[in-house]
This record gives sequence, structure tokens and C-alpha cells, in this order.
Amino acid sequence: MVETIFILILIIISVDFVFERILSALNVKDARKPIPALLTGIYSEAEYQKQQNYFRTNTRFGMVTASFSFLVILAMFVFGGFGWLDGWLHARFQNPIVISLLFFGILFIVNDLISIPFEWYDTFVIEEKFGFNKVTPRLFLTDKLKGYLLTILIGGGILTLIMWIYQWTPQYFWLLAWACVTVFGLFMSMFYSQLIVPLFNKQTPLPEGELRDAIESFSKKAGFDLKNIYVIDGSKRSTKANAYFTGLGKKKRIVLFDTLMNDLTTEEIVAVLAHEIGHYKHKHTLKNMLISLPNSLILFFIFGWMLKSDALAQALGGTSANFHLNSLAFGILYSPVSTLLGIAMNALSRRFEYQADAFVKRFGVSEALISALKKISSKSLSNLTPHPAVVFINYSHPPLLQRVEALV
Ligand SMILES: [Zn+2]
Repeated sequence: MVETIFILILIIISVDFVFERILSALNVKDARKPIPALLTGIYSEAEYQKQQNYFRTNTRFGMVTASFSFLVILAMFVFGGFGWLDGWLHARFQNPIVISLLFFGILFIVNDLISIPFEWYDTFVIEEKFGFNKVTPRLFLTDKLKGYLLTILIGGGILTLIMWIYQWTPQYFWLLAWACVTVFGLFMSMFYSQLIVPLFNKQTPLPEGELRDAIESFSKKAGFDLKNIYVIDGSKRSTKANAYFTGLGKKKRIVLFDTLMNDLTTEEIVAVLAHEIGHYKHKHTLKNMLISLPNSLILFFIFGWMLKSDALAQALGGTSANFHLNSLAFGILYSPVSTLLGIAMNALSRRFEYQADAFVKRFGVSEALISALKKISSKSLSNLTPHPAVVFINYSHPPLLQRVEALV
């Protein structure tokens, strides 16, 4: 049994790695295709060369990081690294919750330290070379420190609560843990922009003026009660542009990146917001939540059941069932299921994107949305001809060409 689980884990890790490499190779093949007729004029000849260069650089870099982490994880399993750390902690500490927290904490820190050189290279070499990067080394470090602090406080807090529930009532663990995580998720989606975002960015209400008037008159026309329009200083980190919708009920707000306001005209920004309002009108956030609730309930049920298995801990080199080794083994054994769920959720998300675009079309501003999408794509040097298999598996949004085809 132990050996079967061990081999199964190795197979899952390896198949996942090979599968990702195949997808990447397919994408490279299709990236060389000529620009589709509907999208001509997006890139000049020089920009197109730059885009192709950016794409190849990112693909190569992705290949290096994925291979490296694959080898590290493989080595940890083959040489029993997880079991060794577990034994080392058990020899020094008594309390199982403390041991599990230290186990996850050490893995998190080691993993993060290993990935810092890669993140650094991505930010200060690749993004810098192509003119996207605005992050200073100082900002890079303060972002890291704030990230650590949040992980320790929030991640550590939730983890402690879940482990405490497991100790208290292993029988109803799955139900209680699921309820806690759900309530916490709901709380975060309501207060994320007030509690977390200000730690990293400045948000200011959109000042009175032409843009605010245009947005307010559109939302009135669309029957959408919009009071909170904020501008966020995304330009602090990157020149790439974005806009998003956050919060629930009265807390709902639309957030515009300052970079978006520099790049787009008033009509284009209104069209982008119309798309976001479309998501809201179609209740996409609520639908996503309703689908994920039973999903996570099933996940916790299987998780609670697998936490009891000695064989899982032994497959990782431990002696008997414990929270951290079993969670780790569960995470890998469950990953094929979560990959499949992810593919289904991406398909749904792409459907939602088409619905939000159709909403824009009904209000007669699809021309402005097309030109906004084209600008956003070209500014971020995005790949205009992704392979259909990559779109099917990884894309939460339809590729630009398909969106434009549906909008015209
Ligand atoms: Zn959308």
C-alpha cells in the first residue's frame, strides 16, 4: 500500500510536468503563426519582433523554473526529505500543532528562498528588458516582507484553527473546517480592498471630471448603482494595465489601474467598465461562489478521511498519520482532480467573459471595447495566437481574436 501510494505520487508529479511541457511546445509552435486578419495593425513590424522575443524569453524562463522545481520536489520524495524533517521536528517538540506549523513554516521559507532568485530575474532582467518593470529592489524587498507577515498571520492563523478543529472532533472535522474556510473566504471577498490592498497600493476615489461623469452616466443607463470608483497606483510595479470589480453588496467597488487611465480614452474606459458591470448584472461572482461551495465541501470530506491514513504519511517517509505529512500527500494525490476542476472552471469563466462582452454590445459600445482590448493586448505584448489546447486548459479569458469576433 505504502509503495503504491509512493509510486502514484511520483507518477502524478512526472505526468504533470511532462504534460505542461507538451502544452508549452504546442504554444511555441502556434506563436509563429501570422497575425489574424481581424487583428492586423495591432503590432508594427518592430513591435511584433519584440512580442515574439518576449514570448520566447518567457517560455524559456518558464521551462527553466518548472524543471528546477520538478527536480527539487522529486528529490524531496525520492530521498525522503519530508519524512526526515518530520522526524527531526518530532525529536524536538511535543505538541502536534506546533510541529505541523513548524513543518509548513520551514517548507514555506525554504521554498520561498529558493524561488527569490527566479522572481528577481523575472522582474529585474526580463520585465526590465522589455520595459514593463517599475519595481525597485527596495519595493521588491518590502513586498516580500509584507507577504511573509501576512502569510504568518493569516495563513498560520487559519491553519492553527483547522488543526485545532481536527484534534477536537476528527469526525466532524470536514464540515466545521469547510464552514470556517467558507466564512473566512466570504469575509475576505468583502473586506479585501479595505484590509489587504492598502498594504501594497494606494487607492484614491476617482476625482470629479469628464471620466467620472461618463462612467456615472453609463452606470445610470445600465441600471447599476455605482458609488465607489477607485484608482489604484498599479504603475508603482508595472506598466501593464488592468481594471477589476471587487466586494459584495454595498461594498462593491470598481478599481481602475492608473496605467489604464493613461493608455485608454474615456470611451474605452467606459466600455471596459461596462464589461465589468456585465459580470455583475449576470451575477457571475455569486454563481462562481455557489459552484465552489459543494466543490470545497467534497474536498474537505476526502481530506478529512485521508488525514487518518498511516500509509500516506509512511509514503512520505513518516512513521504514522499526522496532519502535515498527510496534507502534503493529499495535496498531490488530489491534484489531478483539481486540474480537471480547474479546466471546467476556466471553460465556465470564458463563457462568463462572452456574456459580459455581449452586455457591452447591447449598450452599443462594443467598438470602444474592441479598441481598448487591442490596446491592452499590444501594450502587454500578449501572444495573439495561443494554441487551442492551451486555451482550453489554462485560459480564464477567451483569446483576443475570439472576443473581437464575438463583438463585431
Ligand atoms: Zn471579464
